[in-house]
Amino acid sequence: MTALQKFLSDIAPIETSQDAAKLAAKSRDYFWYSPVLSELLRDKVGDVIVVPRTQDEVLRVAAACAKHRINITVRGGGTGNYGQCVPMAGGIILDITQLNSVLNISPGSVTCEAGILIADLEQAVRSSPIEGGQEILMFPSTRDIATIGGFIAGGYAGAGSVRNGILKDAGNVTMIRVVTLEETPQVIELHGSDIQKVHHAYGTNGIITALTLHLKPAVNWVHHIGLFDSYSAALRFGCEATEAIGTEVDAFLITAVERRIAPYYTSSFGDRFPDNKDAVFSMVNPAHLTAWRALLTKHGGTESMALDELEVKAQGMHPAFECAYNHTTLMALRADKSWTNLQTVAPWVSGVGIDIALVEKQMQRWGDEVLQHHEFGRQYGGCVAFGLPLVSYLDKERLYEIMAEFEADGCLVFDNHVITIEDGGMKTIDTAQIDFKKIADPHGLMNPGKTRGWLPEYARP
Ligand code: FAD
Repeated sequence: MTALQKFLSDIAPIETSQDAAKLAAKSRDYFWYSPVLSELLRDKVGDVIVVPRTQDEVLRVAAACAKHRINITVRGGGTGNYGQCVPMAGGIILDITQLNSVLNISPGSVTCEAGILIADLEQAVRSSPIEGGQEILMFPSTRDIATIGGFIAGGYAGAGSVRNGILKDAGNVTMIRVVTLEETPQVIELHGSDIQKVHHAYGTNGIITALTLHLKPAVNWVHHIGLFDSYSAALRFGCEATEAIGTEVDAFLITAVERRIAPYYTSSFGDRFPDNKDAVFSMVNPAHLTAWRALLTKHGGTESMALDELEVKAQGMHPAFECAYNHTTLMALRADKSWTNLQTVAPWVSGVGIDIALVEKQMQRWGDEVLQHHEFGRQYGGCVAFGLPLVSYLDKERLYEIMAEFEADGCLVFDNHVITIEDGGMKTIDTAQIDFKKIADPHGLMNPGKTRGWLPEYARP
């Protein structure tokens, strides 16, 4: 009997599949945004999909993986962009989406299982009578197809971050429960700053089964489009609005998209985003709409849409958050596969914003090769603008030249064309995460190849 056959025998009757088409589909994520990653990852495939329905079943799977030394890659919605849940060395694909219950809602907090779709979680806290309805603090633009566990394990920020900060900011995620990969698995709960040991670790150090998130009172956000005569004016508005959140205005999302990207939005928005205007998509608190409109007018903007989510959807349009973050790239890629994107951070001067003259210079320098898109946010108590520019892909060498030019301009680049945590956003090895991996995954079986911090000699014999 092979190790895999022994594993399957140990975990029966938990649902499994070795159907080739399903395996191929569940071994992919959205790495195809990157031609570099497409080349590297297109042939990687797992050996069996396992679908636990309870934490007890997760414990059985973890024990059998450890006993037979079989690799395991946890998979939520499979919407990561960097091959985060692609099994680099075969093994088990643990589909966690059936662990999808809300466990407890209380004032200011929700505890849920990790495999729940973020949209379902949001619906549950909004419709619960507690506090008259609450909302989660942030979600990726993939709200409707991503799991909350996948967001915590692989995500960074999203709609809501301009108001509430990033996932890493203290108090946003208050508890993470993980199952360890040992012959006798443990269930460990991390609280407070300890959650950072597992957050954004790409599922390399424990299977997240449940978590607790901070909530705020629900707002029926107005999905809003402001149009401007120049991208610089759109950015100036975005900077001032971001600085004013919490005092003069209130918004959940502020996204600037330049006019050359407009043609990719027309199927949803028509002349609400024409190709002779630059746009700011936002989600505005209806109680602050008058102040929002005044700020828009001050910056020479005009309103082309102000509807709540139900109204937006009833008219066949995308909600504002699906015009933001990596959905902007998706809109372009659907029409033209020659695009890819980068992730940058422009330096922010407090009270002023980003250097708009620099963005103008970059637009001139790169012409039609790079199209601009900025997400406004907050992190670590300050304001930030994440750049998610579209790049017309020529080859890997040119892509890295453009990254180097961004860096030479003083922008940070979070390389989204690599598969390890460290080569992407984190830059350095997070030793606390590696120390926790020694406890939670002592044999080094979880999502192998995704962290440079784990060395083969760390593995327990
Ligand atoms: P998956 O892709 O399934 O997994 C992501 C990582 O987490 C993998 O390494 C996986 O192994 C691990 N993982 C998943 N579940 C668990 C678990 N229970 N325990 C341990 N590890 C686990 N990201 C953002 O941060 N903000 C955005 O706004 C955003 N927008 C996006 C838009 C588009 C169109 C696309 C394609 C991607 C976007 N992303 C964004 C990336 C991604 O959608 C999010 O990070 C999303 O939350 C991932 O959730 P998922 O369930 O799809 O995770």
